[in-house]
Amino acid sequence: MSASSVPAGSGTDARVRVVLATHNSHKLREFAAIIAQHLPQVELVEYDGPEPVEDGITFAENALIKARAAAEHTGLVALADDSGICVDVLGGAPGVFSARWSGRHGDDAGNLALLLAQLGDVPDRFRGAHYTCAIALVRPTETRTAGAESTGAERTVSGEWPGTLTREPRGANGFGYDPAFVPEGSDLTAAELDPDTKNADSHRARAFRAMVPALQELLQA
Ligand code: IMP
Repeated sequence: MSASSVPAGSGTDARVRVVLATHNSHKLREFAAIIAQHLPQVELVEYDGPEPVEDGITFAENALIKARAAAEHTGLVALADDSGICVDVLGGAPGVFSARWSGRHGDDAGNLALLLAQLGDVPDRFRGAHYTCAIALVRPTETRTAGAESTGAERTVSGEWPGTLTREPRGANGFGYDPAFVPEGSDLTAAELDPDTKNADSHRARAFRAMVPALQELLQA
């Protein structure tokens, strides 16, 4: 098994190990905090096995690809997420291509500049967009003592954060498209918001909250 422990919070009585298929330290902390708060019996471990090719065409498919690989490799229940921004007038793009919209994976500044240039002529009333986060939960295929194979169980949950896009980037917090994304009900961009405020309300926070009962159910199944 390739997985290393992640501090999941205070006083966890490690009875169930769950592997998390992300290397993003910010996401690891967010996952660990919500699990420590709601599922203290879970010990979260970080996946460090082989990375699958993420060739899904939806957020849920990509999250499932990552969670299945981690579950198969470790034999543990696995969690993985995938996220991005969906722009109304672009029919939901960049979507699953958010991280490499300008051609280079992880080029946040290039991705944002290209998106704003593409929307240059789009009037304010048509600049709606939302962030989406999908989380996949996969229980590995198990071999029962009788020798019969039981299929692994899978669940996906998601969270959306609606808003609009500015014409110019504003703010220094966050990452990715945050400097141009104004969440519904706010005048500030996600990059101008205090990080705690963003983290409490974002697409990831919404997906995390939906994940808690799904994980509980999967662990009991
Ligand atoms: P991933 O799910 O971490 O691979 O994120 C994919 C891409 O979606 C990132 O590279 C960003 O471009 C975008 N993205 C996802 N979540 C956020 C967010 O909270 N703020 C800004 N950009 C995001």
